[in-house]
Amino acid sequence: MAVTRAERGRAMRTHVFGPLKRQVPVIGQGTWQMHDRGARAKHAAAALRLGIELGLTHIDTAEMYGEGRAEEIVAAAIAGLVRETLFIVSKVLPQNASYDGTIRACERSLLRLGIDYLDVYLLHWRGSHPLEATMSAMERLVDEDKIRALGVSNFDVADLEEARAALHRHPIACNQVLYHLSERHVEHAVLPYCQAHDIALVAYSPLGQGDFPSNRSAGGRVLADVAARHDATPSQVALAFLTHQPGTFAIPKAEREDHVRDNAAAGDVKLSAVDVAAIDAAFPLGPRGGELPVN
Ligand code: NAP
Repeated sequence: MAVTRAERGRAMRTHVFGPLKRQVPVIGQGTWQMHDRGARAKHAAAALRLGIELGLTHIDTAEMYGEGRAEEIVAAAIAGLVRETLFIVSKVLPQNASYDGTIRACERSLLRLGIDYLDVYLLHWRGSHPLEATMSAMERLVDEDKIRALGVSNFDVADLEEARAALHRHPIACNQVLYHLSERHVEHAVLPYCQAHDIALVAYSPLGQGDFPSNRSAGGRVLADVAARHDATPSQVALAFLTHQPGTFAIPKAEREDHVRDNAAAGDVKLSAVDVAAIDAAFPLGPRGGELPVN
């Protein structure tokens, strides 16, 4: 899976990642439901490595994915690379998120990943352990240099308020949420809240888990028109839309080589205000209120 000269010369858009003040590529790589056995696991690691070489250095994983095997695939993909060039995120499962459980889960993830710190460690979603205990463990992990920053996932505004109130020394770096063209609920309140409080918003399932608007649908035709103006593909336009605002990122998962290349090239698609307005009209926001949608 070689990188071509044209790919090497391409620029990748970056945004400041919340309070980290670090520029991070707007497009990253997910690892949920990767094939994690035998030759297909090797292929998955090679796809991730290709993505990294193409600039997709933000890798999202979790102890949940493949019961730890996704983290081992990430370890294979990053072997030999300079740690500081990568941005690696993992997550603790809610059932493990007691104070001690969070510390232990992070240590297990670090071992599987073969690294000595995570860039961000997230609570995967809210469970029954008190948020104070999880946040306090995360702050200790930052103090002990096992993680550079802490974050959350699937948090609505009220959850974010509660988490922020439970923290004493370190801010929330990001909120990872379901966000794609047919599911723009976060734009009502979660995204504005994150922007107001310097919290990065990371879009998961940004391609709708493969359920992407067809070229024959009205929305699909708008995407195709915008794509033609940019010499891009509709999926690149979708990723560019989800990441056009400051502090927004997307982490598509791709094992196919052509998908990895397609996603990496989305990193330099810059939409105009006219493009954004056309996509906005074609994929309506939907009603305000109700529960935060999750996958
Ligand atoms: P997704 O990224 O929206 O979709 C993945 C699917 O899209 C795969 O079938 C992939 O195929 C295909 N694909 C990738 N790039 C493509 C392209 N350029 N053109 C056409 N198809 C393409 O869905 P996801 O995996 O649910 O979400 C992404 C990541 O977000 C996950 O892997 C995980 O890391 C994270 N996530 C987090 C949560 C959470 O609760 N925090 C929940 C869900 C997901 P191939 O793989 O065959 O290439």
